[in-house]
Amino acid sequence: MLDTLHRIVKEVNAAPDLEQALDIIVTQVKGAINTDVCSVYLTDFERREHVLMATKGLHRDAAGKVRLPYHRGLIGLVCERAEPVNLADAPSHSRYLFTHETGETQYKGFLGVPIIQNRKVLGVLVVRQHIQRSFEDQEVTFLFTLAAQLAGAITYAQASGNLVTQSDDLAPPNRFLQGRPGSPGVALGTAVVVYPPADLDAVPDRSSKDPDYEEEEFRTAVAAVVQDLMAIEDRFEETLPAEDRALFDAWLMMLGSDSLIGNTVKRIHEGNWASGALRETIEEHAKVFDAMEDVYLRERASDVRDLGRRILMHLQQKVAGPIDYPENTVLVGDEVSAMQMAEVPQGRLVGVVSAQGASFSHVAILARAMNVPAVMGLSDLPVNRVDGRFVIIEGYLGRLYVSPASSVIQEYQRLANEDQALFKELEAEKDLPCETTDGAKIPLYMNTGLISELGSQGSSESEGVGLYRTELPFMVRDSFPGESVQVANYQRVLSAFHPRSVTIRTLDIGGDKPLPYFPVEESNPFLGWRGIRISLDHPEIFLTQVRAILRAAIGLNNVRILLPMISHVQEVDDALLLIQRAHDELIEEEYAVTMPKIGVMIEVPSAVYQVDALARRIDFVSVGTNDLTQYLLAVDRNNAHVADIYDDMHPSVLRAVIQIVSGAKAYQREVSVCGEMAGNPAAAVLLIGMGVDSLSMNGGSLLRVKWVLRSVSRSRARELLQAALRCEKASEVKRLLGNALEEMGLGGLMRAGR
Ligand code: PEP
Ligand code: MG
Repeated sequence: MLDTLHRIVKEVNAAPDLEQALDIIVTQVKGAINTDVCSVYLTDFERREHVLMATKGLHRDAAGKVRLPYHRGLIGLVCERAEPVNLADAPSHSRYLFTHETGETQYKGFLGVPIIQNRKVLGVLVVRQHIQRSFEDQEVTFLFTLAAQLAGAITYAQASGNLVTQSDDLAPPNRFLQGRPGSPGVALGTAVVVYPPADLDAVPDRSSKDPDYEEEEFRTAVAAVVQDLMAIEDRFEETLPAEDRALFDAWLMMLGSDSLIGNTVKRIHEGNWASGALRETIEEHAKVFDAMEDVYLRERASDVRDLGRRILMHLQQKVAGPIDYPENTVLVGDEVSAMQMAEVPQGRLVGVVSAQGASFSHVAILARAMNVPAVMGLSDLPVNRVDGRFVIIEGYLGRLYVSPASSVIQEYQRLANEDQALFKELEAEKDLPCETTDGAKIPLYMNTGLISELGSQGSSESEGVGLYRTELPFMVRDSFPGESVQVANYQRVLSAFHPRSVTIRTLDIGGDKPLPYFPVEESNPFLGWRGIRISLDHPEIFLTQVRAILRAAIGLNNVRILLPMISHVQEVDDALLLIQRAHDELIEEEYAVTMPKIGVMIEVPSAVYQVDALARRIDFVSVGTNDLTQYLLAVDRNNAHVADIYDDMHPSVLRAVIQIVSGAKAYQREVSVCGEMAGNPAAAVLLIGMGVDSLSMNGGSLLRVKWVLRSVSRSRARELLQAALRCEKASEVKRLLGNALEEMGLGGLMRAGR
């Protein structure tokens, strides 16, 4: 059963559209359970009906036509209960509804299981039997295990089907794909799909102007792979027995086969570019092997995919020229990276859509810093079908429209104009100080570093840099940058902001920020080797960085050093010793360095409870609410499945920040917040109520936060905090703050806020 289950899921995942996906399901399940009928109903939420989408056993024509009203019949019952209904004699049940359009005689045996995704019942998978049949436990569990796994594939196929046909009743062109809000704002533009090299699945469909040229490219790439394989085979001549080497012959035969070559060439002449045509052919070919019962033959599917990747590698070497980014580029990818964003020429990037990741992923943070709307975690997005399409991205609610109707375009154009007007209003306050109505000055700093090469919003309005993430200069190279490269880099930032202060955070790689040349393979990277842990295990990396920071500050003296991911007091002791050592060595080498202020990030729960012990050792603390929320709530900040329960307004997070402030204040240490929470206008009010001294945020949020803080007094902020602390849920906290901002006449910011 398990084998059959895997096979069906795999086939469904590879189906090009909803119709074929459902067809595979009904055909395979009918066979596997040996029933007379298998059907899938999907719910049309707008029309409040369950629609028969596919069937094996009933009239084929009935598919798409039979519509059962909500809450009627046994299908309605399965949906209401959201659990399996197993009846040996269905017609005797009070909810039984006889439908003749399906060509039904009376079927007695009935087993229906709900198809559920994200707690929502999308439809029902049902099997029927002429005679009385009580389905066995094993069959029930088989069906609902299958339904659970199919839900994602169905939504995905539904989405990709829609993009192809544009006519599916279930999703007209004013429908959107739902993801997570990544960065606020609305953008209209052209989708440019980006993908990692040699990843066949990620290759988009792209129309070509010159099929003959594409064919030529493809044939050259295949010839190159043939050469490669023959060379490898030769190398193995001595060491591998002839029967094992026969594998190479099989591969070479595949490379000459009509099914691979002929079909790809045919697809090229139907209009797809070589890489897209190759992806389609390889997938079709691999699926044939995937479907085989014989384990050995099934394994051949991976050979086919491997060959596909090899051909793709050669194709990409040829076409690795610069991507053509249109005027309003919306970058779309399975997992868009900071690098890919950096590659878009300045001024052309208007939006980012990533199938993976969540609001607190670094790509989303980067998008907010650049003031570019982003939608994250759009796992239903058929990435390889959207290249070149006109899209609308709605970053407030996390929506994406692909080839939308003109009424939708008009509405969003209006919203985009409204946003611009609000931005102008905010800009008018650009030069005013950030001061509460009762005269308390709250310095606002900016977070930067991820985009040091890009020039970011807000640099002139901020009081300096509260968090300079040093990872990017490390990420864009093939090896660790040397001391002098780093000196030049830090000097650029320090002098750009001088005399304002710049807080440079030492390297925080690991987690979701890997270095290409320093691979760390871990099953749980966020709990693994990251941040200060790597720096202390590799003092040579840490010392080089600290030396560079100290040298860069010579003559400027506006630097502060911040240590990330501190979870043990010993880490601070060790880091301080190393910093002192770097300082002393530089003095010995006759550099006129001075000892800067040193702070720690409080972003791990253990540090919250020991904040006093940490505060005694250092000069300031900076609260990293992004990681603190992740670790306090045990929710991966990048995982779209759990993004709903990642919330920095969770009462526990609020209490943790209060505890940090009181621990640090006991030693008169300054407290800043540099996580994304600081850039949320509503949350900023609470932080001020807690007594946080300064806030550091992405440049795009500076003016919004300033606007709110200039409209509130500290006593009002404290009152709101007290009210928030009486809430037991993040949703209540948010409602409370939303209402308060509305009363203050700042409601516009709630949409424009995060
Ligand atoms: C944080 O964790 O809140 C933080 C500011 O650091 P980063 O987002 O770079 O992990
Ligand atoms: Mg962090």
